[in-house]
Amino acid sequence: MSGGVLIVGGSVGGIRTARALRNEGYAGKVTVVEAESHLPYDKPPLSKAPLDGDAHVPLLTAEEARELDIELVLGRAAVELRPQDRQVVLGDGVVLDYEELVIATGAAARPAPWSGPGVHVLRTIADARALRESLLGASHLLVVGAGFIGAEVASLARKQGIEVTIVDPAPTPMARVMGDELGQRFSQLHRTHGVDTRFGATVDTLEHVEGGIRAELSDGASVLVDAVVVGIGAVLNTRWLESSGLALEDGVECDEFGRVAGAEHIFAVGDIARWYQPRQEKAARVEHWTNAVEQANCVARNIFAPDAPVPHDPVAYVWSDQYDWKIQLFGTRDITGTPAVVEQAEPFRLAAIWQDADGRASGGLTVNWPKASVQLRRTIAAGGPADQVHAQLAGTAVQA
Ligand SMILES: Cc1cc2nc3c(=O)[nH]c(=O)nc-3n(C[C@H](O)[C@H](O)[C@H](O)COP(=O)(O)OP(=O)(O)OC[C@H]3O[C@@H](n4cnc5c(N)ncnc54)[C@H](O)[C@@H]3O)c2cc1C
Repeated sequence: MSGGVLIVGGSVGGIRTARALRNEGYAGKVTVVEAESHLPYDKPPLSKAPLDGDAHVPLLTAEEARELDIELVLGRAAVELRPQDRQVVLGDGVVLDYEELVIATGAAARPAPWSGPGVHVLRTIADARALRESLLGASHLLVVGAGFIGAEVASLARKQGIEVTIVDPAPTPMARVMGDELGQRFSQLHRTHGVDTRFGATVDTLEHVEGGIRAELSDGASVLVDAVVVGIGAVLNTRWLESSGLALEDGVECDEFGRVAGAEHIFAVGDIARWYQPRQEKAARVEHWTNAVEQANCVARNIFAPDAPVPHDPVAYVWSDQYDWKIQLFGTRDITGTPAVVEQAEPFRLAAIWQDADGRASGGLTVNWPKASVQLRRTIAAGGPADQVHAQLAGTAVQA
């Protein structure tokens, strides 16, 4: 069965690869195998769409799948890859052959250390719907982990008037991605919106009691909440590949063209893929949406025109919506260094620029400043001087 291009994983990496193959003009068979039964949907809205709405944003409708001649095999997981036979085995024993395989099985939420009603993680549409159900009529939410997803959920809950306590073992959680000084502004953002921040603390015990869920924190606080969201990272969906012989240390190892190391006719995209990045002269895995889309386009191109492969050498990019801040992050940021910051009070907007040892812009952060984002991303991609883009942005800020 099957043949053509077989894509395992039907989220943004997999579906964008399928679409891009058709855009390239690939006329062979395209099959997407997806463990979940839902039609493919996007993940960023799960933590951004209002709590009283539906977070389901389709990546491919049934009609589009028919029009593009993409076969969707939903509700069935791959359990084994046999590279020597060019075959993938599904959970029900069905064996699919492929000419080219794309691994796009991404990651799952790192499981919460606790379970029971009202305790949630957030990775799938089912998680998002269960969380929204729990928060209907809730008065207090505990968020464990103040990374992007935790911070976005805290912000959504506050918009609904729900009291929020947020806990993270790091004293300044966002310092992990932007350094201490800017990270502190993000901690303050929670407090400005009335969140009880417990940074530098952990949850000692969490139990279901009459009237809710009681959490005892390591800083001595005790909170009684209606629901808990645990956002403590992700674990890669590599189990089905364990007997394949592929190199799986921190993801599926690929070259800059997306070809899996030591294998033929196999590519990997998205959160699961550790691509060699020429710009950084090292292999890296990126758990962000835009990276999955760009790798998908690149792999589709390289499957369609294998004799002239193109590399994917990205300026990393991620966005996040927290309260009234639209945040964008680019490139590589030396979080021990001090970025140059341009900011404006009314209306508030901010841009931070990191530079490398040669004075080239290497990374950036913007808040509520789309034009600065475009300028920064371009400058970083071109290896342009940090002081020049800083001066340009400073000039714009003054004029505004
Ligand atoms: C709540 C949330 C909010 C986010 N917000 C942002 C944001 O604002 N900005 C940003 O840049 N990024 C964001 N991200 C990250 C972004 O969504 C991911 O980087 C992106 O989804 C990765 O896509 P992927 O296709 O590689 O993997 P995934 O999205 O993890 O999809 C993998 C798919 O493979 C399926 N699968 C797994 N194992 C098997 C198997 N054995 N057989 C068949 N199918 C299988 C899974 O069911 C899943 O559908 C967010 C993520 C989440 C969870």
